[in-house]
Amino acid sequence: MNTEKSGFNTKLIHAGEIHDQFGSATVPIYQTSTFSFESAEDGAKCFAGESNGYMYTRIANPTIDALERQIAALENGFGAVAVSSGMAAATTVYLSLLSQGDHIVSTDAIYGPARGVMEKQFVRFGIESTYINTTDAANVKEAIRPNTKVVYIETPANPTMDMTDLRAVAEIAHQHGCLLVVDNTFCSPYLQNPLDFGADVVFHSMTKFINGHADIVAGIIIAKEEQLYKQIRNMMVLMGCNMDPHQAYMVLRGVKTLGIRIDRAQESALKVAEYLENHPKVAWVKYPGLKSHPQYELGKKQMRGDGSMISFGLKTGYEGAKKLMNNVHLALLAVSLGGVETLIQHPASMTHAKVSAQDKEKAGISDDLIRYAVGIEDVNDIIDDLKHGLDKV
Ligand SMILES: *Cc1c(COP(=O)(O)O)cnc(C)c1O
Repeated sequence: MNTEKSGFNTKLIHAGEIHDQFGSATVPIYQTSTFSFESAEDGAKCFAGESNGYMYTRIANPTIDALERQIAALENGFGAVAVSSGMAAATTVYLSLLSQGDHIVSTDAIYGPARGVMEKQFVRFGIESTYINTTDAANVKEAIRPNTKVVYIETPANPTMDMTDLRAVAEIAHQHGCLLVVDNTFCSPYLQNPLDFGADVVFHSMTKFINGHADIVAGIIIAKEEQLYKQIRNMMVLMGCNMDPHQAYMVLRGVKTLGIRIDRAQESALKVAEYLENHPKVAWVKYPGLKSHPQYELGKKQMRGDGSMISFGLKTGYEGAKKLMNNVHLALLAVSLGGVETLIQHPASMTHAKVSAQDKEKAGISDDLIRYAVGIEDVNDIIDDLKHGLDKV
C-alpha cells in the first residue's frame, strides 16, 4: 500500500513492503548473492544503469531494498543505504563526505569508536577532527575552520544525555558550507527526525532500537537529497560493507514493534528516573523527561518522547557503581541498548574505555556515571531489581 500519508505506526508495518507472486504477508528473504539476467542485452542494460533489475547483492537486493525504503520513509529522507553495522554507517559517512585535508567538527561525547576511528585512523589520511561540547551551538561556530566539511553530532549524546539544538546547529553548518550529520541511534525515528530540523544525513546503529531484540548488528544511513544518497550508496558498494539479506529480514521483523516497544520502555523509564532521583544513595540523574535535565525544554522541542536511556551517579562513585552492577539480576550487565531487555553498564570502563582520561573528563563521562537502558519488562520488577542492588551499596 502507499503509506506516504499514513501515520508512523502504519509505516512501521507497511512502508516499503513488497508482495511476491504468492501473496506473502511479509517481505521474503532473497538469500542469493547474484541474479540471473533474461538475456545478454538485459544484463548489459542493468549494468549500464538503464534498467533497475537486480545484479548482485552487494549492490542491491530486494529484501534489503524493502528495509531501506521503509527506514527512508520513517526518517523523511530521499533514500537509505543499509550497512553491516552502526560503525560501518559511521565510516561510510566519513568516507563519502570527507577527503584529504578536510576537517570535521563533532560532539565530544559522541559514540566512542566513531571518535576513535577518526582520531586514530582517518588522521592517517590527512583528515582532521575537533571534538567540542555541542550543547552550546556557539561552540560549533567557533570550531568551524575554512576546511571544515562536516558537522557530526549525536543528541541525546551517549552516555551524558546532553542534547544539541538540531535546528541551530544545522543553520550554523549550512552558513559555513558544511553538511550536518546526526547519529540518531538513541532516539530512533520514532522519537526524533533530524532531517526535518535541517540535517543532511542521519544514521542509526539498528543494533539498538530499530531492530530492538539484541540479536543482530546492523546500520543504516539516510540522506535527505538524491545527490548525497547516490554518493553514499556508491561508497557502500565499493567498500563492501553491505547488509546481508537475512540480517535485513531480522530488522524488518524487529522494526514493526518499534512504536509499542518505545512507548512501553519510556513510560517505565520516567518511573525509574523518578525512583532514582528520590533515592538517598543517588547523587544525580540525567534523563530528558526529568525537569531537572538542564535541556528539558530543548528535548520537548525536537523529540516526540523522552526515550528509555538514563544516566546516573551514586554518592559512593565508581565503587558504589560496581556494587550496584554486581547486585542487579534482572538488568543484564552488558553494553548496547534499545532492546527489549534492561541493561546496565559503566561507560568509563566499558563503552568509552578507549577515550583518554582527559577527553572523558572534558566530555562529561565521569567515573561515577552508570548508563541504564530500560527494557519492556514490568516496571515494578525493574524498580525492585534496582532497589535490591542499591540496598547492597
Ligand atoms: C552502538 C552505537 C553505534 C555503533 O553501532 P554498531 O551497530 O555497534 O556498530 C553508533 N552510535 C551509537 C549511538 C551507538 O549506540
